[in-house]
Amino acid sequence: MLFRPAPFVSKRRALAEQQSGLVRLLAFARSRARLIVADRPATTFADVAGVDEAKEELAEVVDFLKRPQKYSALGARMPKGLLMVGPPGTGKTLLARAVAGEAGVPFLSISGSEFVEMFVGVGAARVRDLFEQAKRNSPCIVFVDEIDAVGRHRGGSLGSGNDEREQTLNQILVEMDGFDTHTNVIVIAATNRPDVLDKALLRPGRFDRQVMLGLPDQKGRLAILQVHARGKPLAEEVDLDTVARQTPGFSGADLENLLNEAALLAARRDAFTVGRQDLAEAIDRVIAGPRRKSHIISVRERTITAYHEAGHALVAHALPHVDPVAKISIVSRGATGGYTRVLPTEDRNLFTRSEFKDNLAWALGGHAAEQRVFGEMSTGASNDIQRATQLARRMVTVYGMSERLGPVALAGSEESPYPAEYGEQREYSNEIAYLVDQEVRALLEEASQRAQAVLSERQAALTQIAELLIAQETLEGGQLQALLGDKGRPLPLAEAG
Ligand code: ADP
Ligand code: MG
Ligand code: ZN
Repeated sequence: MLFRPAPFVSKRRALAEQQSGLVRLLAFARSRARLIVADRPATTFADVAGVDEAKEELAEVVDFLKRPQKYSALGARMPKGLLMVGPPGTGKTLLARAVAGEAGVPFLSISGSEFVEMFVGVGAARVRDLFEQAKRNSPCIVFVDEIDAVGRHRGGSLGSGNDEREQTLNQILVEMDGFDTHTNVIVIAATNRPDVLDKALLRPGRFDRQVMLGLPDQKGRLAILQVHARGKPLAEEVDLDTVARQTPGFSGADLENLLNEAALLAARRDAFTVGRQDLAEAIDRVIAGPRRKSHIISVRERTITAYHEAGHALVAHALPHVDPVAKISIVSRGATGGYTRVLPTEDRNLFTRSEFKDNLAWALGGHAAEQRVFGEMSTGASNDIQRATQLARRMVTVYGMSERLGPVALAGSEESPYPAEYGEQREYSNEIAYLVDQEVRALLEEASQRAQAVLSERQAALTQIAELLIAQETLEGGQLQALLGDKGRPLPLAEAG
């Protein structure tokens, strides 16, 4: 529940506004937009479930807000800005409020999208007001929701530049740059479009820390359902575990909505408890809702993704030069359908040719599994193929790892002053270019065959892992090791989509 007091208007500004009719019009526009909202949230970390990593990252921020002296005595500078990134309804606002709640400090918030419709100059003035108020209330949190609305990279569209947006963004940056070690204000911004953000926002001393929030997996969904089932009497027969299993692709907001719909349905029946049927019907309603349609992952897609990731994991596990698999998931994150992550056991700067070759094979493991099981390929492997191709090309042109070409650097060095857009700075003949292509192709072909070979020896394990993934969506490294046995020697941090 949000407590929303009247918008804050500073005295100086209030006086100024009385001075003319035009200013009164602006004041009207402002009050309508209710830009700044301030309160002291009662929300705590206990209200946010399934995002343990994010909470861990934010624990330090909470500690800082509680005891800023401890940090300033040590000369430590806390981050000024923190960017929460995640799809809608994954708890960005909730978590920002929980940070304030945990620390017991005021929470001032403002939404980027509301600036866009304002008169020129008003947005920047509002930002000044906001930060004035924040400094008076420090330590505190300033929350800028939907920062992408004002923080899109500048100068994108010539001529049609949105002055208001730019001025607002500039003012936010000016304010943050003006913080000193005693300001004790932390700005948390939220976005689901990190790709469009102006790079200036992400520079050190601005929003240089990011907290990623994804759609919850089955365990996460259960935890979120448990949070929102508080205060809703459930019938004996209800098993939230089953509900969690039936709701892949649901965000935290969808789950909250689901329990609320179920309670409404129970009330309509004049029942005293929420029954299994209410929940089943509520799931259908939420799925049919306008917001959800695009998210629903078909059974077919889940199956393909599960085999794809199982393929990566199996090949990674089987090859000696790949780190142990830490986690496999078919919960989508942004554009990718799932991911397989391996854990490095040490920092590495040097890589051998055999290590690269194992990495290529592992990267193509998903593609190989799809081919093997479905007899065809999906677009899900395109990112893997792109990355493998880049690595193979570097092996040939930068690291001199091709026998046919020998130890010669063919690409401009990696720190070439010419970015790719200026056209490749090629300093070799067409014949050599042809050879490079052939060598890259050969490396990829070999890697693909090695992946195929691993999978053909382990068909049963492939099916078993894929089915486990379909059932529980994520597998921890320990579970995989339990199934396949320990793996030999390890290597560098990597993740395959
Ligand atoms: P976002 O800001 O990412 O769009 P919100 O924080 O506004 O998402 O989430 C909307 C509502 O959904 C929250 O108020 C809460 O009821 C529910 N919710 C979302 N994520 C979670 C979560 N991780 N744990 C518990 N509830 C959640
Ligand atoms: Mg939000
Ligand atoms: Zn992949």
